Amino acid sequence: MAKAKSKASDKTKSRGGYPPERRMVIDEKHTIGGYCSARPEQRRTFGANVSPGRERAIFVHEKKWVSGTRLNYYFFDRRDDGEWLLMNNGRQRFFSWVGGESQKRVVRKAFKVWKEIGIGLDFAEVDNREDAELRIGFMRDDGAWSYIGRDILNQGKNQRTMNFGWNLTGADGLDTALHEIGHTLGMPHEHQNPNAGIVWDEDEVYRRLAEPPNEWSREDTFHNIIRKIVPDTVVGSDWDRDSIMHYSFRAGMILVPEEFRTGPLIPAPGLSARDTAWVSQTYPEISDEDIAEMKVFKSHCVTLGPGEQFNSSFTPVETRRYSIATFGPTDMVLTLFEKTSDGEQFIGGDDDSGEERNAKLVLRLVKGRTYLIRARQFYSWDRGEAAVMAY
Ligand SMILES: [Zn+2]
Repeated sequence: MAKAKSKASDKTKSRGGYPPERRMVIDEKHTIGGYCSARPEQRRTFGANVSPGRERAIFVHEKKWVSGTRLNYYFFDRRDDGEWLLMNNGRQRFFSWVGGESQKRVVRKAFKVWKEIGIGLDFAEVDNREDAELRIGFMRDDGAWSYIGRDILNQGKNQRTMNFGWNLTGADGLDTALHEIGHTLGMPHEHQNPNAGIVWDEDEVYRRLAEPPNEWSREDTFHNIIRKIVPDTVVGSDWDRDSIMHYSFRAGMILVPEEFRTGPLIPAPGLSARDTAWVSQTYPEISDEDIAEMKVFKSHCVTLGPGEQFNSSFTPVETRRYSIATFGPTDMVLTLFEKTSDGEQFIGGDDDSGEERNAKLVLRLVKGRTYLIRARQFYSWDRGEAAVMAY
C-alpha cells in the first residue's frame, strides 16, 4: 500500500497503524536534528500468575540473543526491493531499499566495531535474504530505525529489520550504524532509562519533534523519548549520557538536570565505556571450558542467575528424533545449532518465558554430527536451579 510522504497536507493519506509516516533527513545521531525512531516493541502481557519480579526479568532479557549466536545480515539488492510512495503532487514514486557500496561499508565497519570488543556474538554478511536474520535497507527519508533484539525474527523475509534513511558517509554516520545495531543487540534508548532522572519539558519536546525534520506524531515522540523503559540491570542502572543509545537534545527540552535548560546535551561520539561493558557482559565469549558435553538421557543440573547461560555440545551416536528440554520452574530460551564447515547453523529454538511449561525442541539429529545446545535463563523461582537433557 502506498505511504504518504510526510507533509502535513498528506497526513490523511498515511497508512494506518503504527508506525506513522516519518521524515528524517538529518544526517547524524550526534548533531541535533533527525532522530533514530526505534520500532515499537512487541510487548507481551502475562497472566495473573506471573509475578511482577518475574515479569520484569522477562522484559529485561527476552529481546536478547543467546550468546554464541551468529547473526547473518543482508543488504537488499534487487531492483524491485523498495516501496512506492504517494507524493504531494499525487504521483507515486519508487524509493529503493538498495544502498550504495559506500553506505554498506559504514554498516560493515559498525558490525566490526561491536565484534572487536570481544563478544559472544558473530556477524556475517550473506547475499541471500532467506539466510539472514538482519535485513538492511537504505530507503531515503524513511529515517534510521531497527527493531529491538529478537523482535527482528518476527519480520517477514522480504521486510527490512533495519533502515538507514540518510547518508552514512558523514562524520557521525558510523555512530548512526552503531546505534541501530545496538537496537538489534537488544539495547533500548538510554535517555528513556528511568534512572536517568531526566524530567522533560514535555510540551516543548512534543512541539519540537512535530517540526521538521522529524515531523513526529505524539505517539512517535512518546514511544522514542518520553516513555520510560524497564532499565537493563546487566551493568548497573545509572544514567550513561554518553551511551551510543542516547540522543542529543537541544537546550530547553530537559528541565532536570538543570544544566540542560540552557545548554545542549551532546553524547560523546562512539561507544561509551558502559556500552562496551554492557555488550561484553550480556554476550560473553564462550570458551571451550564453558561447554559441557551432553550425553543422551543424562540430565545436566545448572545453576544460573538471570541472563546467565548453559552451553553444551552433543554428538548423537544414532540418527533419530531427539527431544532436548529444560526442566524446573524457570523461564528460559533454548537454542540448538549445528556445527558445519560454514560455521554454526541455527536449527531451532524455544522460549518458555511467562508460560507454565518448559522449553523443548523435538528434532531429527544425525549420528556423528556435532550440535550445540544453549539455554539462557531469564528468571527462576528457586536458587536458579534447572536441568537440561537430551533424550
Ligand atoms: Zn534508536
